[in-house]
Amino acid sequence: MNYISTRNKNVKLTSAEAIKKGLSDDGGLFVPDEFPKIKKADIESLLGKTYIERANFILSKFLTDFTKSEIEKCTEGAYGDGKFSSEKVAPVVKINDSEYILELWHGPTCAFKDMALQILPHFMTTAMKKTGEDKTIVILVATSGDTGKAALEGFKDVDGTKIIVFYPSEGVSDIQKLQMITQDGRNVCVEGISGNFDDAQTGVKKIFTNSEISDELEKNGFAFSSANSINWGRLVPQIVYYFSAYCDMVEGGEIQNGDKINVCVPTGNFGNILAAYYARKMGLPVNKLICASNKNDVLTDFIKTGVYNKNREFYQSVSPSMDILISSNLERLLFDISGNDDKKINDLMNKLSAGGEYRLTKTMHNKITKLFWGGCCDDYFTKVQIWKTFAEDGYTLDTHTAVAVDVYKQYVTETGDMTKTIIASTASPFKFNAAVLSALGIEPYDKNEFELLDLLKEKSEMEIPESLAALNGKEIRFDEIIDADEMYKSIKKALNIK
Ligand SMILES: *Cc1c(COP(=O)(O)O)cnc(C)c1O
Repeated sequence: MNYISTRNKNVKLTSAEAIKKGLSDDGGLFVPDEFPKIKKADIESLLGKTYIERANFILSKFLTDFTKSEIEKCTEGAYGDGKFSSEKVAPVVKINDSEYILELWHGPTCAFKDMALQILPHFMTTAMKKTGEDKTIVILVATSGDTGKAALEGFKDVDGTKIIVFYPSEGVSDIQKLQMITQDGRNVCVEGISGNFDDAQTGVKKIFTNSEISDELEKNGFAFSSANSINWGRLVPQIVYYFSAYCDMVEGGEIQNGDKINVCVPTGNFGNILAAYYARKMGLPVNKLICASNKNDVLTDFIKTGVYNKNREFYQSVSPSMDILISSNLERLLFDISGNDDKKINDLMNKLSAGGEYRLTKTMHNKITKLFWGGCCDDYFTKVQIWKTFAEDGYTLDTHTAVAVDVYKQYVTETGDMTKTIIASTASPFKFNAAVLSALGIEPYDKNEFELLDLLKEKSEMEIPESLAALNGKEIRFDEIIDADEMYKSIKKALNIK
């Protein structure tokens, strides 16, 4: 299998090269040139298997240049003993007859980003060995909160790598900020940006595609790569959990192998829902993909109208990891539904960067509406949903998952479709404790973060994740805030480049 760029089909790399590079030089994203097919019998063969065994099966279809034992080392290192607080890694919790919560937050940082970022460093070091890389790989990350911490945890003290994380200084929750600025490890650096996530992401993309900068880095023995979901190595592990969740539902007698399900995903950069789209393309029986946004509803409008227009107000919400106006991974979807038309993608992406807007052809838009349903939900209804699900189903949602549940209910009201639905739960409620508590009727004005954790524990009757409790009293290592145009300067400083 080869990996091609969405902006130039003639670029052909192995998966190891694509993962190491992160983003193509032409600014495009790497995608496989064909998709493996998973049949009903394959799914049958995955029943009764562990998460790691299922991951080995799915990943081997995509990482065709990795040996079986290389893949097994990666999955064992990522999901093996004690890494995740659930033995199932990503358990499915049935909360009523149609809603199945896929808990993706049992990893070390309590958000779904761990599902991919615990394995990406293993992919990366394997890829470096396979390709004879002699430079130090510098992982540049723009984060809306969860990616940064998950990438830091994944890459800390990994030989041959350095990691630099940029986060919007006012756009993350207190716990998220605390998780990052107390990060340990000898190869890590964390910088706050005065701006929003899009400023950070645009800044990182600019640095990636600036050839003068990459030349200067190369001279100093460094090469950039990415841990954002633009990296194929981030996306491919996410395909696994949709297959695994389906298997769990078959095993539990909730569905029969072959039955269709819906998948509902709280969406920001479009990575998680794209993985569900790819799973469907490979043969997972999925009826609708429900794309849930918060008040930043650019994707809802896009799915409804076929026009992507980022020229709109940016809102800070109680679901900050979805406060995004430019969803990078949409490019991969557009490439796929255009029939791998790289010229078309260049045209659309040029329009997006020039005027902030593009319009799909009727044919492309029809393909999207056949499969996707989009909806959005503001902070008020996010909190109402947390309260309702707690009252009706006895389950405590985090703010992002609550957006998904609200949008799912809108979908059912509009369509009457009662197909059993997997709702991706992307964070532990403890990570967004203030908003969750307030939704549950507790207004904790004068409490610190750790008192909030205790309050939520009492209310939800859930255990506080160990990694969050351990933040109490941890030394702050990174308190710098810089302007977005100073990003390269701070990278040079972190790498000791004169
Ligand atoms: C990153 C994140 C999202 C959005 O996921 P995308 O793959 O960017 O669409 C949703 N919820 C949480 C908690 C996240 O960390």
